[in-house]
Amino acid sequence: MAENEKVNAAPEAAAPAPAAKPPKKPTLPGVLALRKVVNDVYQAAWDAKKAGKPVGWSSSKFPCEICEALDLAVVYPENQAAGIGARHDGQRMCEAAEDMGYDPDICGYTRISLAYSAGVETTNETRRVPMPDFVLCCNNICNDMTKWYENIARMHNIPLIMIDVPYNNDMTVSDSQVAYIKGQFLDAIKKLEKIAGTKFSEKKFAEACHNANRTAKAWLKVCDYLQYDPSPMSGFDLFNHMADVVTARGKVAAAEAFELLDKNLAELVKKGETTTPFPEKYRIMFEGIPCWPELKTLFKPLKANGINVTAVVYAPAFGFVYDTDSLDNLDGLCRAYYKAPNSVSIEQGVAWREGLCRENKVDGALIHNNRSCKPWSGYMSEMARRFNKDLGIPCVSFDGDQADPRNFNEAQYLTRVQGLVEAMEENRQKRLAKKEEAAK
Ligand code: SF4
Repeated sequence: MAENEKVNAAPEAAAPAPAAKPPKKPTLPGVLALRKVVNDVYQAAWDAKKAGKPVGWSSSKFPCEICEALDLAVVYPENQAAGIGARHDGQRMCEAAEDMGYDPDICGYTRISLAYSAGVETTNETRRVPMPDFVLCCNNICNDMTKWYENIARMHNIPLIMIDVPYNNDMTVSDSQVAYIKGQFLDAIKKLEKIAGTKFSEKKFAEACHNANRTAKAWLKVCDYLQYDPSPMSGFDLFNHMADVVTARGKVAAAEAFELLDKNLAELVKKGETTTPFPEKYRIMFEGIPCWPELKTLFKPLKANGINVTAVVYAPAFGFVYDTDSLDNLDGLCRAYYKAPNSVSIEQGVAWREGLCRENKVDGALIHNNRSCKPWSGYMSEMARRFNKDLGIPCVSFDGDQADPRNFNEAQYLTRVQGLVEAMEENRQKRLAKKEEAAK
């Protein structure tokens, strides 16, 4: 039987032709530039090691401007652990740390980093780093950091430069708080001069501060594109670009790459195009660090339901601009480093998030109760209550982990997303009915 006869003979039995997959959208030049910036940071650490120069491991919100002024190569274990988690090597590394005696309740980034530090190799070749000669810890991120870095320093018998930032119960940073950190910054400079074997360069410090401010401003501009409705990008992309603000914000290459992405996004807006691979129906805030090993699983039901992430708290948390350009006016830098997601008061945290939700017009919030990050997850129930009361948006939460996939359950996640969709749809219908009523 000829092919067309077959079709004519039994039309009801014919399976529908599979819909042609839309062509993959090209990666924006700004995104490619940002990827290169992070890879260069890793390469610079290997080059320094090879040349016999000291290499540091640093927490994400340690004042990188100081290291730039001393030409020190530094890598960031949080970024490394996220990369290892995303490449599905997090569980094995976490288990290796547990075998060494570390509790499974400790943050997944910490367990991965401690295992790596003890010599457990990762299968993610792009995130291998040389062993540290010194460690830099600023506990504005969280207090888990303190023990994490103390352990690495002890394992390798190397210096730990510690900057202590106490939790701030207030909305502003007081002069005495500034003085407390300034003394520690100046002390860190002296210690790092000895490690680097060179004098602190005021000129390089001014350049690094200038670059960090340029990066922060361009990062904020990029984040602001999520205010467009529909947005010219998927807010999920911001999670990937975080790597640049963490590892390279004091470098001119990071500022330039973000400025390029800003231009790319402006062009998309002009043409009415978007990088989001689906039409946007709902807009949400994604609260918390993503589950890196489960990115595809997280994204799938969002895509299926037309949900775009248009708000993440990383925008204000890492978009910090200050007026310091020399050691004589360090106060601005101190104030900027006093503010990190887990060291600011709950009122400041609510203000950051609610501002974003309003500006970026979100319909709901999806909250990640991250087993690893207790300080962040701990206040999420109160945050959800406030979002609900102040913004009238539905909030749902799911259990997960940024690096250890054993703490994530896909079925629970799907149920929670479905619940969020139903609540957002109900609100949408109410809004539409109100509009129709007003038009009568
Ligand atoms: S994920 Fe949370 S607990 Fe872990 S290092 Fe980051 S802030 Fe600290």
